[in-house]
Amino acid sequence: MSRPLENKLALVTGSSRGIGAAVAARLAREGAAVIVTYASSAERAEAVVVDIRREGGEAEAVGADLGSPDGVKTLIASIDGAFGGRFGGRLDILVNNAGTVGYGPFLDQPDDAYDKHFNVNVRAPIALAKETGRRMAKAGWGRIVNIGSAFGEAAPMGGVTLYVATKFALHGFTRGLSRELGPFGVTVNGVQPGPIDTDLSPNEGTDEHAAMVKLTSVGRFGKVEEIAAAVAYLASPEASFTNGENLTVDGGWNA
Ligand code: NAP
Repeated sequence: MSRPLENKLALVTGSSRGIGAAVAARLAREGAAVIVTYASSAERAEAVVVDIRREGGEAEAVGADLGSPDGVKTLIASIDGAFGGRFGGRLDILVNNAGTVGYGPFLDQPDDAYDKHFNVNVRAPIALAKETGRRMAKAGWGRIVNIGSAFGEAAPMGGVTLYVATKFALHGFTRGLSRELGPFGVTVNGVQPGPIDTDLSPNEGTDEHAAMVKLTSVGRFGKVEEIAAAVAYLASPEASFTNGENLTVDGGWNA
């Protein structure tokens, strides 16, 4: 595999498992030094780092709860000291991947569910994009990739209304910010996965899982590597003319 991301620093939020772990591994394979982040699964994050290093890549793990502004501050601070300060505070690639979902009828959701969904899925990506976007604009190059959802464009089923609201918001943020950072050589794009086999999605054998499979045209859940491939394209130097796109990788869900 070629290494188009050599000498680039990437921050992938929520990369202790699931889609984020696959994205971190893929970017590292392409040459980037990767900051792997987690909320509480320190051991899983360390395992991701160990796997990346075993393959000859570079990675470090940082813990930060993105449900609070302090978590965002922690991640920003980690950029300065990353890899012995070798990047001098520069961040080349931000992948806003960490996300949360609560399943169940909207009318039964507790009041604190609003804050949880919006803090993690919307506020943290926006705050991270602001702080890192400044650094990218100053450097004249950067890539921001927001992991949205097929639920950021349509709501073909109920039970995830707050999640849908946050992913529509993230979709709009991607488009708006692309207009502002494009002139500085910084692209802002999104990837909108359909159902992907991770801890966040319903387990195989449940009614929800079967309903989601039916909504695809390929008749299956996607793999984390299929999302990582889309992120790798958007993060690459080759994607320099792609800006403000929300790339749908959903097995035909929203066709
Ligand atoms: P996952 O397997 O549940 O992993 C979630 C990741 O986010 C973990 O690394 C977790 O850290 C981190 N995270 C969760 N809450 C956090 C918080 N408060 N602060 C900091 N980090 C936090 O999820 P996934 O399925 O890979 O999803 C990744 C992204 O893809 C999300 O934005 C999700 O909305 C989106 N997506 C997923 C699917 C799907 O079907 N799986 C479909 C469409 C979109 P810990 O390990 O420490 O908890």
